[in-house]
Amino acid sequence: QQDNESEDVFSVPNYACQRRTTLQNHNTVLTEALSILAENAELNEEDGRGIAFRRAEAVLKALPRAVRKLTELKGLPCLGEHSLRIIKDILEKGVSSEVEATKQSERYKALKLLTGIFGVGAKTADRWITMGIYNLQQLQSSGPTLNQAQQAGLEHYEDLNQPVTRAEADHIGEIVRRVVLCVLPGAQLTLIGGFRRGKPTGHDVDFLITHPEEGREVGLLPKVVSLLKSQGFLLYQKTTKNSYLESEDRPTQPSSNMDRFERCFSIFRLKSHQESAEVRGNGSESRPKSWRAVRVDLVVSPISQFAFALLGWTGSKLFERELRRWAGHEKAMSLSSHALYDTKQNSYLRAASEEEIFAHLDLEYIPPSERNA
Ligand code: ATP
Ligand code: MN
Ligand code: MN
Repeated sequence: QQDNESEDVFSVPNYACQRRTTLQNHNTVLTEALSILAENAELNEEDGRGIAFRRAEAVLKALPRAVRKLTELKGLPCLGEHSLRIIKDILEKGVSSEVEATKQSERYKALKLLTGIFGVGAKTADRWITMGIYNLQQLQSSGPTLNQAQQAGLEHYEDLNQPVTRAEADHIGEIVRRVVLCVLPGAQLTLIGGFRRGKPTGHDVDFLITHPEEGREVGLLPKVVSLLKSQGFLLYQKTTKNSYLESEDRPTQPSSNMDRFERCFSIFRLKSHQESAEVRGNGSESRPKSWRAVRVDLVVSPISQFAFALLGWTGSKLFERELRRWAGHEKAMSLSSHALYDTKQNSYLRAASEEEIFAHLDLEYIPPSERNA
């Protein structure tokens, strides 16, 4: 054991899933800079670079105070040459020219704007940029074919790029819970994603639905969706069936984060509360809009997989990625949102709670509020 207690040197473990990362970040200037570079890499589909910057960002988020000198970072994991150069520039000059140049670049701005449309990913945005489309006017006038998701995304662009508040998330939770219980008494609805980690706002609202009796959840989602639709709550929805089969799903790519649960990606029509409707109004000539569009994700899991689904959908994305990397590289196990598979014992490891999954993985339990890596 080496002495890392000396005052001026930080020490954090290698994997984000070994660390407690709260929402209290003492290094926002540095992490925002690295986040821009990570985002830029992701938007350009340079996945390796994106992950490297995200890992560096997460290490700085986990530090107990602000970084003052570069030498304090000696011995920290995940800080590559490139990330260290950015940190050095900001500590010495207050800004990083590379980050500033990225933020100003027409390509970055266009990729960010276009992928801000629900249903538009990096590939589509890149194709449109090649066609000379850099903003929403150009998109509307040059008219490439839009699928249904993208049409809805464009129509509700402004609303969907407004952060969702916790109050709005709770309001939607009440609506969804009422409908779920109407379709299947005894079903359980859990708020997941960023809000479960204690974030005050989010880009969407995520819910996990289950029933304490295995199998009762089958067929639930289409009924919930059609009831929500008939009550006027859905502006758009796409439901995907469950495609998970335990026998064939020994997860061979632990790095892939796609799962096979039955799910619904939707856009909700949420009536504004009186106050917020007034705040949003822009004067007396136009009546303020009485509702707003909000992205909502619904996921259904059988109770036998609930703990894995809960862990896998609570995030953060980097925390999830690091859990799977830890499982694969350190434990010869394969973790997904459905199951944990031990490749040495050739068997699945059952778990009824997140605590049990951490224990199987030989990790100290990290509660949701400390998974904000
Ligand atoms: P935000 O506040 O921006 O919504 P978030 O952490 O809730 O942040 P989401 O994109 O809503 O981010 O994702 C929530 C969690 O669900 C993440 O941990 C992510 O890994 C997981 N997730 C999202 N999409 C999928 C998917 N298609 N398959 C499996 N897991 C997913
Ligand atoms: Mn979310
Ligand atoms: Mn989501």
